[in-house]
Amino acid sequence: MPPSTLLITGASRGIGAAVARRAAERGFDIVVNYARDANAAEAVAADVRALGRQALTVQADVADEAAVRAMFARVDAEMPPLAGLVNNAGIVGMKSRLDEMDVARWRLLLDTNVLGSLLCAQLALRRMSTRHGGQGGAIVNLSSMAATLGSPAMYVDYAATKGAIDSFTIGLARELAGEGVRVNAVRPGIIDTDIHAASGEPNRAQTSASMIPMGRPGSADEVAAAIVWLLSDEASYTTGAIIDVSGGR
Ligand code: NAP
Repeated sequence: MPPSTLLITGASRGIGAAVARRAAERGFDIVVNYARDANAAEAVAADVRALGRQALTVQADVADEAAVRAMFARVDAEMPPLAGLVNNAGIVGMKSRLDEMDVARWRLLLDTNVLGSLLCAQLALRRMSTRHGGQGGAIVNLSSMAATLGSPAMYVDYAATKGAIDSFTIGLARELAGEGVRVNAVRPGIIDTDIHAASGEPNRAQTSASMIPMGRPGSADEVAAAIVWLLSDEASYTTGAIIDVSGGR
């Protein structure tokens, strides 16, 4: 495959880091976006380079429009042409009921999980769509089983942001289907990553095992496998799909 770049938001750990390693094995050069942890991002980049691929780490909060635009400008200047985007960066709030939440929390969740994904997709498609002179590409959005389960008494606001991601995936897939850009999503169930600490339940993956038909949480790499398949030419006729990676939950 000719050199081509995959930009992964939130790739310094968890699912994003697993995608970076798997996609580098498949021949992508990788942009490792992160928010705070430069050392963790550099460690992922080192793994990518050890696989013989280029890696660029870029600090940018996906909720910060100027930072996201600057990140894409760096990708244009320093990497091979963009061929893929994984909208992976996402956050949850503390476990709460709706009557205990405040508007500032909702704005942060919407800005990060929804607007961040919309903006990154817009800037990516302007580079990849044949309508804009690009060579085509693929976008994978991170939804969640929360979009269908609703996460009552946990974080209905987060669930709502992921419902928005599902709708956005279906619509954008149809909008770009004739322009060489496929758009799909994965809906992870309970995956063993650091994200659960932010909800106040750092051991959620372990304590929730009995709620999962397969009896165990998933790993970041099991989610990454589905994402990298959706990015690959093996998924050439798949667009607008939302794949549940949830152990049957
Ligand atoms: P994670 O372990 O908490 O990792 C989050 C990653 O995103 C980190 O690399 C973090 O970078 C980065 N990040 C956080 N806020 C960011 C921002 N504003 N801008 C840019 N990067 C940001 O999360 P994960 O569990 O891998 O989750 C990845 C995605 O899967 C999320 O969209 C999440 O909603 C979804 N998901 C996860 C699960 C699960 O059970 N884990 C289930 C369903 C869906 P820094 O460390 O540098 O801040």
